[in-house]
Amino acid sequence: MKKACKSCKRILVKGNVCPVCHSTDITTSFQGVVVIFDVESEIAKRLGITAPGKYAVRV
Ligand SMILES: [Zn+2]
Repeated sequence: MKKACKSCKRILVKGNVCPVCHSTDITTSFQGVVVIFDVESEIAKRLGITAPGKYAVRV
C-alpha cells in the first residue's frame, strides 16, 4: 500500500519518513496522484509543492 505525507502530500516510495519535509506524519488513505515536474506550474502552486515528485491530491 502506498503512503503519503500528511504535511506536504508527498508520496513515499519507501520507509515512513517524508523525504521532502522529514515529517513522520504519514497516511495510507489519500486520493489521487499528481506528478510534479515544474514547481513553478499552477498545479504545484495550488498544492503548495516546492520539490518535484509524486504527490497526493488530497490527504
Ligand atoms: Zn512531507
